[in-house]
Amino acid sequence: MSIKNQLLAVFAAIFVFISVASLTNVKKTPTGFPLSTQTQLKYIYLSFDDGPLNGSENIDSVILAERLKINVFLVGEHAEQTRQLGNYYNMYEQNPFVESYNHSFTHANNKYALFYSNPSNVLADIQKNEQLLHLRYKIVRLPGRNMWRIGTRRKDDGTSGSAAADLLAKNGYHIYGWDLEWQHNPKDGSPVQTVDQIQKEIETKLEDGTTFTKNHIVILLHDEMFQKKWEETELKQLIDRLRQHDNYIFEHLRFYPDNQYD
Ligand SMILES: [Zn+2]
Repeated sequence: MSIKNQLLAVFAAIFVFISVASLTNVKKTPTGFPLSTQTQLKYIYLSFDDGPLNGSENIDSVILAERLKINVFLVGEHAEQTRQLGNYYNMYEQNPFVESYNHSFTHANNKYALFYSNPSNVLADIQKNEQLLHLRYKIVRLPGRNMWRIGTRRKDDGTSGSAAADLLAKNGYHIYGWDLEWQHNPKDGSPVQTVDQIQKEIETKLEDGTTFTKNHIVILLHDEMFQKKWEETELKQLIDRLRQHDNYIFEHLRFYPDNQYD
């Protein structure tokens, strides 16, 4: 065999070796299972708006006992109303499973069109709330609006507030809407969707990838769901069922990915 042919044979052998090595590396995980059967992690962000409210103390003790990560979007005006509500705010601050974020100081006084007609007032209201409640993160849910501003991605709910959301994003705020709401009956606090229904909606959305960010779902819930004894609540039933999925993780919104592909 000529030197040229010998060299060619060596290169061919190296090529085959690298190809086989890379194939085995790409297709197998360190544990030897093919990637396709690996379980994709799915993140669930439970969020509660408008606190602190009467009854917030139930949430605090339940969350601590359950060791369940939740997110609360707080309204500063409520915390200022009574000393008791102010104490609830302090309670959240000391609970490592609860993270407090910004839902504005006034909650737009529930006059949304007027509130959003003046974006700089919206910014001032959010900043006032941040200072009053000593909020650590620039994470906002706009009152009365399901709008998103995360990194370069955005979504509006079709009503006024777009310019205000843009101004907040320009000032470094991340704005979170929600992918799914577990609605409740305002009269007695009972949930509109059954536990079965809401569980199926969550699982379907996570599997279909129809959330704002794939594999991440933000759920809007209401404090009223804590009115009953915890063991009897629909929320506990839901949490217990979701916890049966090994790949579902309850998380705080500050860990929500900025990028669709994080
Ligand atoms: Zn609200």
